[in-house]
Amino acid sequence: GVEATRSIRQAEVGATRTMLEKAKDRFDLHPERLIAPLIDCFAINCRAADTAYGSGPMLGWLVDRKIAPHIPVIDKSDRQDGTWSRDDFEWDADNDQFICPEGHALKQFRRNYSDPNRGQTGKGRAKYRALKLTCQACPSKQQCCPNAEARTITREEHEDARQVARDIAKTKQYETSMKLRKKVEMLFAHLKRILGLRRLRLRGPNGANDEFLLAATAQNLRKLAKVFPAPQKPQSA
Ligand code: SF4
Repeated sequence: GVEATRSIRQAEVGATRTMLEKAKDRFDLHPERLIAPLIDCFAINCRAADTAYGSGPMLGWLVDRKIAPHIPVIDKSDRQDGTWSRDDFEWDADNDQFICPEGHALKQFRRNYSDPNRGQTGKGRAKYRALKLTCQACPSKQQCCPNAEARTITREEHEDARQVARDIAKTKQYETSMKLRKKVEMLFAHLKRILGLRRLRLRGPNGANDEFLLAATAQNLRKLAKVFPAPQKPQSA
């Protein structure tokens, strides 16, 4: 399948969805897992990070459709200054709270609001806060939140799906997937080096789509020729 896009994340993610839907509609194919290759940006000859597919909405979309995301998660929660990052806090789903390394709860809400608009929505980003008094008296404050009165942690939208992807990344099958994706990357390299798609000749998204469709057809024919080689003519005596 081919779906040419501009080299922006939203378009690439949209193309992935379109290709999966096409595979379902045309061939009734439902993949068990999706392996994201490194993305090749043909126009300016660069390789974008392989995490473009690892955004929360994309992972949520895949997990909702029971497609296992073998994709590195986009995660900006790691801290570079040596203080504790979100991974050091335990998520307690039953009580909708994080537990800090000192055993205290970080909550989104600490009282029941009579106005439902002010309460928990279950959607979007959510902020969880520790109690100011607890943090002020905590022996680990320097390690946790040296510049704030109390520790705050953000839980991203689609965090459950992001956790699914993180858990998959620790499995043997994920290691296999990372090896398999090299096969796809070889096809990209072949497109650029052998089929000359370093630059496109046709303009606009439709032109790009036409060129990629022809190139992918050529690649498939080449593969077919390898799988089913032409019968050899018998040598004349
Ligand atoms: S500073 Fe606050 S959030 Fe951090 S470990 Fe101490 S009590 Fe927990």
